[in-house]
Amino acid sequence: MPEDDIIDVSDFDPNFRDEIAAEPGGEYIRRCFSCGTCSASCPVGGVTDKYNPRRIIHMALLGMRQEVLSSGFVWLCSVCYTCYERCPQDVRIPELMNAIRNIAVREGRIPQTFKTQVGQLRAHGRLYEVGDYENERRQEYDLPPIREESAQVRQILDDMDVEEEAE
Ligand code: SF4
Ligand code: SF4
Repeated sequence: MPEDDIIDVSDFDPNFRDEIAAEPGGEYIRRCFSCGTCSASCPVGGVTDKYNPRRIIHMALLGMRQEVLSSGFVWLCSVCYTCYERCPQDVRIPELMNAIRNIAVREGRIPQTFKTQVGQLRAHGRLYEVGDYENERRQEYDLPPIREESAQVRQILDDMDVEEEAE
């Protein structure tokens, strides 16, 4: 095994599983017995082997805090709930991923794509700008025009302390 692949267990955080379990959605992480049903069922895992929920949970249980939080893995879950239905231990994986994401967000570890989406929400009140072209197309189908009303969305983002510039 190359030296770079050797894992230094002294860097592990044995409290990471407790930290996740204390987060809403993460309560059932200790139930996982690593059967792999979630990974075998996961449609995202079928597209990219970078995403493997069983492996993420295993890393979290081992205490690999930095690796889990600094990787982009947890952000790939599409929250489709397929694994939620199939997990024999009722680990509630999509909610667990949200719990890990919440910890990552508090440390400012937010992928650029989500920061961009927050910027769009602030600017337009939705995830994309609706302009004349879109409204003309809507008019063709007798649909009312969409107007940008972003003030309420900005207020919600402010109330939640959501900032797109966070690193
Ligand atoms: S299906 Fe449930 S018990 Fe099995 S590895 Fe996934 S989270 Fe763990
Ligand atoms: S909820 Fe997430 S982890 Fe579970 S199957 Fe769907 S994409 Fe995969």
